[in-house]
Amino acid sequence: MRALSHSSEKLRELDKAHLWHPFTQMQDWCATQHDPLIIASGEGAWLYDSEGNKYIDGNSSIWTNIHGHAHPAIDAAIRQQLEKIAHCSGLGLTNEAAILLAEKLVGLFPVGTLTRVFYSDDGSTAIECACKMAIQYRQLDEQNERCVFVAFDQAYHGDTAGAASLGGINTLHQRFSSFGFDTCHVSNLAGLQNLSPDILSKLTAVIIEPLIQGAAGMKLWPQGMLAELRQWCDAHDVFLILDEVMTGFGRTGTLFACEQEQVVPDFIALAKGLTGGYLPLAATLTTEKVFEKFLGSQEEQKTFYYGHSYNANPLGCAAALANLEIFESENTLEKLEKKIALLEALLEEQLAPLATVTEIRQCGFIAAIDTEHPQQNGVQLCLTARQHGLLTRPIGDTIVLMPPLCISNSDLESAVQALNKILTPES
Ligand SMILES: *Cc1c(COP(=O)(O)O)cnc(C)c1O
Repeated sequence: MRALSHSSEKLRELDKAHLWHPFTQMQDWCATQHDPLIIASGEGAWLYDSEGNKYIDGNSSIWTNIHGHAHPAIDAAIRQQLEKIAHCSGLGLTNEAAILLAEKLVGLFPVGTLTRVFYSDDGSTAIECACKMAIQYRQLDEQNERCVFVAFDQAYHGDTAGAASLGGINTLHQRFSSFGFDTCHVSNLAGLQNLSPDILSKLTAVIIEPLIQGAAGMKLWPQGMLAELRQWCDAHDVFLILDEVMTGFGRTGTLFACEQEQVVPDFIALAKGLTGGYLPLAATLTTEKVFEKFLGSQEEQKTFYYGHSYNANPLGCAAALANLEIFESENTLEKLEKKIALLEALLEEQLAPLATVTEIRQCGFIAAIDTEHPQQNGVQLCLTARQHGLLTRPIGDTIVLMPPLCISNSDLESAVQALNKILTPES
């Protein structure tokens, strides 16, 4: 482990003086009794703090990491790209890493389905990109009125204004919900089927987190729901946008969640795990049908005027290519099958019997444990878990366990044991 160049004390002081952390009440953060954990390094499924303590990365660094930290192949791919160039514009220019990655991504879906890749920087922008394409498509199709989205209650699609307006979590989204896309929220398929003919005629797309709603507290959709939703969209000529920002890249047991119900969307948004959790890069994939609608002469004004400065960033694309290659070279998904079964057994054996555990949900390698502890809420439980070598974050009183896919069996056992300890009262 490499030492940091400043003392933890100094860094904490500077952090409190200058940083503003996401989703954080900074009054609590800056309080004198709060000592923020400073992560100094990582290796595999482990994180090391500035004081030399080590922790299992129990939520994959907020759902991003896939094959572990400091993976030699991803490190090498980034270094190799760095020898050439760190960044050049995707506007008016192109680059090898971005081209090869696009080909590779398209190849992950059934031939001739999702054939076009638009790069951006993060989950939110990948979603906004899909939404703007879905709106402009209707305009180019002379159906200007079709600009309304259906999203689900409890959904989370990101934090930029457009993405937030699709969100359905009141604490996160209500404040800004009127500033974005025209969105109609429903709670399930029945809600969709009951939409008025007036709204139906205005829809451009339905957006969903397939199989599992992440930020909602890892809520599972009923089996078969996604396939039914696809059928509904087809029957009503409405686009289906899949937000696989969290579920993508093996998290649910298959490379993409939509594979489990043989669904191919009209748009898919990929981000978090795309680079293996290394760099901010996102991709929106869509069909040739959508792409072709935007073709025309400059004068026709069909161009998709959208994009960000770091579009097609070569470093990110190189990391993403390495990420995908590791799935092949390490047989990640095959090995994961056994780990998913082990996780299920461990949850059943170590957590299900506890009186403090009210429900356990699992989708592939994502686990959520609803807790009701007499003394500690979710935040406090996760702070206690640090003392047992596990770092994770709760959603309310739901504790999330979704370590990097590379975690060893024994580390997975340790992670669940840590949860067992914190959830056994008076321990
Ligand atoms: C994290 C997340 C997003 C937003 O991604 P950012 O990279 O944070 O902008 C969107 N959708 C889902 C399902 C997510 O989990």
